[in-house]
Amino acid sequence: MVGAGFAGLYALFRLREAGWEVQGFEAGGGVGGTWYWNRYPGARCDVASVEYSFSFSEELEQEWVWTERYAPQAEILRYLDHVADRFDLRPLIRFDTRVESAVFDAASGGWDVRTSDGEVTRARFVVMATGCLSTANLPDIPGRDSFEGELLHTGRWPHDPVDFAGRRVGVIGTGSSGIQAIPVIAEEAAELVVFQRTPNYSVPAHNGPLPTDELAKVKARYRDLREKNRRSMVGFAGWAPAPGGSAVALSNDERDEALEERWADGGLWFLSAFNDVLFNEQSNELVADFVRRKIRAVVADPAVADKLTPTQVIGCKRMCVDSGYFETFNRPDVRLVDLRETPIEAITPTGVRTTAEDIALDTLVFATGFDAMTGTLMRIDIRGRTGISLQESWEAGPRTYLGLGVPGFPNLFIVTGPGSPSVLTNMVTSIEHHVEWISDCLAHLRSEGYATIEAAEPAADEWVAYVNSVAGITLYTTCNSWYLGANIPGKPRVFMPLFGFAPYVDTCASVAADGYRGFTLTEADVQEARQ
Ligand code: FAD
Ligand code: NAP
Repeated sequence: MVGAGFAGLYALFRLREAGWEVQGFEAGGGVGGTWYWNRYPGARCDVASVEYSFSFSEELEQEWVWTERYAPQAEILRYLDHVADRFDLRPLIRFDTRVESAVFDAASGGWDVRTSDGEVTRARFVVMATGCLSTANLPDIPGRDSFEGELLHTGRWPHDPVDFAGRRVGVIGTGSSGIQAIPVIAEEAAELVVFQRTPNYSVPAHNGPLPTDELAKVKARYRDLREKNRRSMVGFAGWAPAPGGSAVALSNDERDEALEERWADGGLWFLSAFNDVLFNEQSNELVADFVRRKIRAVVADPAVADKLTPTQVIGCKRMCVDSGYFETFNRPDVRLVDLRETPIEAITPTGVRTTAEDIALDTLVFATGFDAMTGTLMRIDIRGRTGISLQESWEAGPRTYLGLGVPGFPNLFIVTGPGSPSVLTNMVTSIEHHVEWISDCLAHLRSEGYATIEAAEPAADEWVAYVNSVAGITLYTTCNSWYLGANIPGKPRVFMPLFGFAPYVDTCASVAADGYRGFTLTEADVQEARQ
């Protein structure tokens, strides 16, 4: 088991319960994954905590008290620490231990897993719970390493508090991380300069304390809520009103009224005000225009508002959820630098040089995201049945079957892998689903006497074509997003997640019910005969 975030922890729990001997490896010094690494100011979830949490244990669900609608990073980390202790998972994990390679030995049908401490562990199965957003992207801007101030990345934030008081701070990047961090850093810093390449859409979180009676109401109907999440397209908002019809079908006033209602509620569910926002350009434009008007109404300086106003399709890059982001640009000590007008030429020992000026900074924060979905897996030297590496196999883009298995790589499972709905869902719902599917699959192999399971080439080909065809009917492919790998120079441009959680769950269930249709299962004696 590689990784000790939500996915690794649940997989360790579930597989140990099923009677397997399990060994976890975690590069970090503790559990938590995303919530261990992303300690930047303002970090919090943007799926409501009562849903962005495990459902596998009713006791855990009932006993844990979420204090805010969207819990801050420290609280989510405390929760995952609690999970690790409550279910006694820590002894199963080797911390500060990075998996460097995993090599399949066709003769014995097992994996040799080499770790940074020089050890090699033999495993029959390997589960990659390595995360979709776990490899920080630190762009190679000329002069980056010459900076003499403090250089930070949101996804690798120090454990000790960072002191911004009296400092001139620069933030590069205005995705979800930047948009969360900027208002909080602005409160503390002497001056803040925001370097923006692409403006983003953001909806207010309206975060606040979670009243005890509201939490109690959720706890009373948790089973129903979780079931609805599993039946939804995105794995959350089980309680929310269903998406309305087409945005195009309404008058301007009716549409604005519906959008105002969602805006007042806040959060990601805003995008589902209408059922065609991600499919119909005209509908998308109407919703995007509503948000643009909101930005202009908040930002006092019309020139700054213009720069902050996105033009791309709304939802194409992941929509952000903020607490006072646009308001921050009304502060006299906050400045926006539009990199489309004046790109960064270099980072210097004293700050950032754009094509227009030298900007002196004491602290420079990279909120520049991740080599998402494939980056972490591709940094491990994974070699399959024929000795081919995952890097070679995925040179033109990731190829999986169901996002769970890779042809040529037997007994290797990926949690929330490319080709699964993963980052387009509440990730905890997806993670629980994957782990349970993998656990059921392993039980099947054991009870039926199979030694190996491997995604078949044609099944993976069909699956990749299907994922692409679904993406093709959405508007997701119309901009340069990390979903497409467009944020990493040289990465193949392929839409990596699958849109639509509920149909995916049904497909996975039918594949299993059909004796793991599309996978090749090899019996133990056949495996032995091959030796
Ligand atoms: P991770 O939490 O990323 O854990 C993977 C672990 O694997 C890491 O600890 C890493 O160190 C370890 N690892 C990787 N490679 C190796 C290796 N070679 N050897 C050993 N260990 C390795 N999703 C939502 O659904 N809702 C949200 O509100 C939300 N908010 C987010 C906020 C932030 C700031 C970020 C960055 C992501 C957010 N996400 C959110 C996505 C989030 O990544 C997932 O929700 C979830 O935490 C992923 O859990 P995981 O266990 O799959 O992966
Ligand atoms: P991101 O969405 O990829 O945003 C990175 C930002 O950095 C973008 O504005 C990007 O601009 C900019 N950037 C990248 N390279 C640059 C360069 N060389 N020069 C200038 N600007 C550059 O990354 P993120 O904000 O860390 O978020 C990643 C994902 O993590 C989110 O989409 C979300 O899924 C998850 N997340 C969720 C939350 C939450 O609210 N719960 C918080 C943080 C993260 P371009 O757009 O022009 O590329």
